[in-house]
Amino acid sequence: MSIKYIFITGGVVSSLGKGLTSASIGHLLECRGLRIAMLKLDPYLNVDPGTMNPFQHGEVYVTDDGAETDLDLGHYYRFTNTPLSKLSNTTSGQIYDTVIKKERRGDYLGKTVQVIPHVTDEIKARIRAAAEQEKETQVVLIEIGGTVGDIESLPFLEAIRQFRYERPKDCINIHLTYVPYLKAAGEVKTKPTQHSAQILREIGIMPDMILCRCEQPLSEEIKAKISLFCNVPLDAVVDEKDVAHTVYEVPVELHRQGLDEKICNMLGLKSGAADLSRWEKMLHSALHPKGKVKVGIVGKYMDHQDAYKSVFEALYHAAIAAGVSLEIRRFESDRIVENGSVEKAIGGCDGYLVPGGFGERGWEGKVLTAKYCRENGLPYFGLCLGMQVMIVEFARHVLGLENAHSTEVDPNTPDPVISMISEQKKIKELGGTMRLGSYPCVIKKGTLAERCYGKNLIRERHRHRYEFNNEYKTAFEEKGMVFSGTLERGVLCEISELADHPWMLGVQFHPEFKSKPLDVHPLFKDFIKTILLEKAPWPASPRLTTA
Ligand code: GLN
Repeated sequence: MSIKYIFITGGVVSSLGKGLTSASIGHLLECRGLRIAMLKLDPYLNVDPGTMNPFQHGEVYVTDDGAETDLDLGHYYRFTNTPLSKLSNTTSGQIYDTVIKKERRGDYLGKTVQVIPHVTDEIKARIRAAAEQEKETQVVLIEIGGTVGDIESLPFLEAIRQFRYERPKDCINIHLTYVPYLKAAGEVKTKPTQHSAQILREIGIMPDMILCRCEQPLSEEIKAKISLFCNVPLDAVVDEKDVAHTVYEVPVELHRQGLDEKICNMLGLKSGAADLSRWEKMLHSALHPKGKVKVGIVGKYMDHQDAYKSVFEALYHAAIAAGVSLEIRRFESDRIVENGSVEKAIGGCDGYLVPGGFGERGWEGKVLTAKYCRENGLPYFGLCLGMQVMIVEFARHVLGLENAHSTEVDPNTPDPVISMISEQKKIKELGGTMRLGSYPCVIKKGTLAERCYGKNLIRERHRHRYEFNNEYKTAFEEKGMVFSGTLERGVLCEISELADHPWMLGVQFHPEFKSKPLDVHPLFKDFIKTILLEKAPWPASPRLTTA
């Protein structure tokens, strides 16, 4: 049977949750036993989001093969088991980069190089590459970033029009739109949806299904109107109303309306009924928590909803697994220093997490957070920069190296406990210069890390330039720091933890990228579990208090 393709476009406004919807559809198809692949096409000209400010673009999601990708791939990872790699995210920047390189090489044999066919051909080649990534793929879901009507996304839409023209039986277009309720008029409005379907038709794309984002379920009358004006059968107008509690309800809601069955019928896909039992069990636990944990996250993009997306999700997965609800308190690290009192600024949480980050801003507030947790026996989880902060804090206040720092912030520090590995020192330009992607790590026996993972060889994903400086290793160990994870066949420190503390652990990698609600990351799981066990006060060890 030929591979089937589902193109997902968005209309009316951005931020409708196209990524979540695509991931949910992928999930439902997998629940029917189908093998899927997913691809996100992003219309911006950056080659990848790696160099974009998190305020602009939210989190950069990293795959095993080291691609810096759109955060929607995080949704794909959490909702499905599809393979994700650099083939799963393509930007206009990559497409143009390839086309221009080919032109310079003379691959176009003197032809005039144009958006159609050269750019569109390259887009189609990327879709085929995503489909061919695995032999058994049956369905490919292709999400097109942006909103129809944007100038940027036109080449992508033209490419999917052609793709379908070449495989009329194997493709469908699902258009996600917004159907607002106007309070003043007391009415639900279909006109924006009609207009965005019209734009698609002008480009030559007929939607097969309209998914309507809305606040309340749509009446049959409204659905009939959308059906008639948008030229789709009535049963192909599906509402996707706001879910009450968690995004993990979305697949269940869509399944309730028979979405997966409809898609399979349209594409002539034969499969069993969807088995959502594991997902529903997880959801039941998420919706019926018994107890609560309060975790403080100390970062520097706290006002941005999506800057630490995977971190929030991974904590939530662990809370669901522990059967409790999660309250996240967000702290801007800058303000901790301004405030003068750490206790006043961030006190009152059951545990703290310091996520990854770049640059100088916010460092000292994070150092104060690590100190506060170490001295008060409060669980501390440091991710990437969060581990580097934990190292610097320990160097300053336990080893007495008061000007210790990371060379990222202070290149002239007398004690560069975090610095670049020498071969990276020569690399000057930004973009693609980091330790990126999956690396194997050996876990030391008898450590907290071993307790969490339950094994001694793991693989985790990295995205950083700086490393622990092993010249200081012995000094740290003598004072109670345990280097519990080391790069396999290498010396780089990947995990550090405090021996005499309930849970103080930092990782040089990003475990948050590898947590799913149905496969919770072991470090997050143990962090939350320990918080629940350790709510009782803990006497600070004299050995670890400030030097
Ligand atoms: N800025 C630090 C580095 O480059 C940490 C990066 C991160 O937290 N992802 O090493």
